[in-house]
Amino acid sequence: TKPSGPAPAHSLGHHAIGSGFVQVRGAREHNLKDVDVSIPRDALVVFSGVSGSGKSSLAFGTIYAEAQRRYFESVAPYARRLIDQMGVPDVDAIDGLPPAVALQQQRGASNARSSVGSVTTLSSLVRLMYSRAGTYPAQQPMLYAEDFSPNTPQGACPACHGLGYVYDVTEATMVPDPSLSLRERAIAAWPPAWHGQNLRDILVTLGYDIDRPWKDLPKKDRDWILFTEETPTVPVYAGFTSAEVRAARRRKMEPSYMGTFTGARRYVLHTFAHTQSLLMKKRVSRFMQGKLCPACHGKRLKPEALSVRFAGLDIGDLSQMPLDQVSALLEPIAKGDFSAHVAGMGINGGVTRRDRAERAASGRATHAAAPDVRRTSALSEEKRLAAQRLAEGVVARLRTLQHLGLGYLTLERATPTLSSGELQRLRLATQLSAMLFGVVYVLDEPSAGLHPADSQALYDALDTLRGAGNSVFVVEHDLELMRRAQWLVDVGPDAGERGGRILYSGAPAGLREIAESHTARYLFDEVPAQPSRGREPSGWLVLKEIRRHNLQGVDARIPLGVLTAVTGISGSGKSSLIAQALPELMLLHLGHEPEDDSEVASEGPAVIETTGGHLAGDVDAVQRLVHVDQKPIGRTPRSNLATYTGLFDHVRKLFAATPVARRRGYGAGRFSFNVAKGRCETCEGEGFVSVELLFMPSVYAPCPTCHGARYNEATLKVLWKGRNIAQVLQMTVEEACDFFSEEMAVSRPLQWLREIGLGYLRLGQPATELSGGEAQRIKLATELQRSQRGRTLYVLDEPTTGLHAADADQLMVQLQRLVDMGNTVVMIEHDMRMVAQADWVIDIGPGAGAAGGRLVATGLPQTVARASGSRTASYLAAQLA
Ligand code: ADP
Ligand code: ADP
Ligand code: ZN
Ligand code: ZN
Repeated sequence: TKPSGPAPAHSLGHHAIGSGFVQVRGAREHNLKDVDVSIPRDALVVFSGVSGSGKSSLAFGTIYAEAQRRYFESVAPYARRLIDQMGVPDVDAIDGLPPAVALQQQRGASNARSSVGSVTTLSSLVRLMYSRAGTYPAQQPMLYAEDFSPNTPQGACPACHGLGYVYDVTEATMVPDPSLSLRERAIAAWPPAWHGQNLRDILVTLGYDIDRPWKDLPKKDRDWILFTEETPTVPVYAGFTSAEVRAARRRKMEPSYMGTFTGARRYVLHTFAHTQSLLMKKRVSRFMQGKLCPACHGKRLKPEALSVRFAGLDIGDLSQMPLDQVSALLEPIAKGDFSAHVAGMGINGGVTRRDRAERAASGRATHAAAPDVRRTSALSEEKRLAAQRLAEGVVARLRTLQHLGLGYLTLERATPTLSSGELQRLRLATQLSAMLFGVVYVLDEPSAGLHPADSQALYDALDTLRGAGNSVFVVEHDLELMRRAQWLVDVGPDAGERGGRILYSGAPAGLREIAESHTARYLFDEVPAQPSRGREPSGWLVLKEIRRHNLQGVDARIPLGVLTAVTGISGSGKSSLIAQALPELMLLHLGHEPEDDSEVASEGPAVIETTGGHLAGDVDAVQRLVHVDQKPIGRTPRSNLATYTGLFDHVRKLFAATPVARRRGYGAGRFSFNVAKGRCETCEGEGFVSVELLFMPSVYAPCPTCHGARYNEATLKVLWKGRNIAQVLQMTVEEACDFFSEEMAVSRPLQWLREIGLGYLRLGQPATELSGGEAQRIKLATELQRSQRGRTLYVLDEPTTGLHAADADQLMVQLQRLVDMGNTVVMIEHDMRMVAQADWVIDIGPGAGAAGGRLVATGLPQTVARASGSRTASYLAAQLA
């Protein structure tokens, strides 16, 4: 039973018991076993334990959730009803709890318009700097800060509405193969099936030759067919030739129907703008091309805004520069040296990506317009002061970002293109500059994506937060961070049902005595990593002249039939080479269209980034490519583990085959929450409803009708082995393994999931709730059940994210198994324990951004460990010692 109300955060009571402790009593959230634990405030505390042991349930699900609830209650008493709906963490009491701020790994999709600048709020500062302290052309009135934002109507470039790109179709995109005739569907952009045939028949009536190769039609005709805005309505005689149509019309024969013509471009653009179907939208977006907006050159702002300069640059140029460069540019001004501001130095500071793109597109060099010295020299004292102050502010903020190893990013970089680790560090940097006092920061694996060489900055950042009088609670697997913590809370011993206990809470050294702790084994006994097997490659895949992001014509050799680890600091180019260029070129070679899982942005088709370069070597030895990335397995709560792995299909068939279902005529479809018949009407099978709130983000509350079951009453009446379908979705993989042990089709994929350490996940856990690491392991498990054939190239992106060292070892066993079966595995990895076990290592760098993008060292782990100039070498050497 719960006390009627929570104790106030700073009641006198707890001070008597132990001042400076957050005291949790009776926590039962998820798998937590009614635990009590006292955690010191004003300390760096690491929550450790294997994946699924209950660390997040304690740190986020209990402590943070409770702090959040109290906050809601204090700021918005009217939100009471809402809090009740949101659910209260299952805990008896928490005393001594300060307000909390969570920095979680991002889950689910994020806003395409959010950028490094907006997430860090640096953009607002920079806009203010341009507005107040920029140099304006003579006679131009001063602009407001919002005039410098492409996301406001008053700032956006009128030609592209602030997108930076304009979208259009070309003959080449719509007619990929001009040797075909119209009858042979030369116009690929035409609608499929009957509608396309209709357009063709109309052209017959209009007298066009539909049997001549497209390229042999007169230009005038081709242009009309593709680009006309006219929409003539003409009689159609289905199946007639041109001559037959003419004869029929002369004889006033009744046509099959009257048809209206639409030009291909009009069709594509209209469909893109108006269709409700995502599929149609995707289809037509293939024929559209984004090109830099000719008015703003991709800077997304109206001309007046771009005419204002600071340090010689317009705000668009500044936003496209690596933060390291922005900082170097503003530093003198922050110190009161205005030569750069006035004379426009720094103009040569960098060729931005778009300059390059433009140059490539137009075939000629473009120059950022030089600032007009005459206009800027008369800088008033007042403006100088403003410029200095604002530049100081920006430089100080940038320093934090640079220190966290993010200086290679640009302000305009869209957050969906960042890794979740980068995004979390951005948020951390933002917190560091806002610097609250007396709060609990709860962080989720901040070391994700960080090379050991970058980690020091993270440790410093956490120390800074703590030093300012905050509590820093971190869910983390990084052993080094555990060693540095003042306090460890070890949860376990295993995952799910077999976890949820507090094995230890105290100074790190004391964990040594805890025999059942997996963390203790790794932290102290240093469980030796399996030595590299040094397998002989069965061949070499060669990447030649690769160009993408910071890779400028890189050649790389990837050994086949072995396990390769790719290392390098954050931003060095690992993903560009291994997770992007390699799969893209390989899929192209295998005859697939490039992987396009980019969601079509509502504004326009994705500007497809392309890779320069080609493959060579034993390309044909690879028959299949599987990219196991950390992207969500689905973007809506409608997809989950069970649907993704396909096992739900079998489960639904089992339910449909029960006598009750057969009597009532329920097919397998009835048991899908995506089908109207079987699901709950109120929430349409979502299990929850969203509650819109004034002034606050909308929140999700369990559906009042089905209470999260997702199905309607009638469907839930059907039982298989005594459980209804909603109860099955509530089961963990582990439970389901036993429950379905007789049903091979269901239990086989479940066993793989269990072996890869995901036994604690529930079958119906929405895809949007899974971490990137969990999504990656689900993909891997799904892959393992069909991996027997060999000759597959597996590409993995930091597979140990979210994994305890013990889980990582388990994963390594599976990866080695894939290689033993004749496959190739290439993984981007920061955990030197994993890298040491690889057969081959490719180290990229040496630095980030422009200071990286080269192969620094390649070879056996022991070879790379000795390489000079590699920032990986010493860390790898330490692991091999
Ligand atoms: P960790 O952070 O140690 O990896 P979690 O706290 O995320 O572990 O999970 C602990 C247990 O709680 C697991 O068995 C997991 O499946 C379960 N769990 C996690 N989130 C939920 C949820 N939203 N609803 C029910 N069970 C959950
Ligand atoms: P790593 O995987 O080693 O962390 P990345 O390949 O992600 O490095 O990045 C290498 C460089 O390319 C960095 O300077 C990064 O900012 C840049 N970059 C990566 N992705 C994009 C993108 N989508 N748009 C622009 N620049 C990018
Ligand atoms: Zn524009
Ligand atoms: Zn419902």
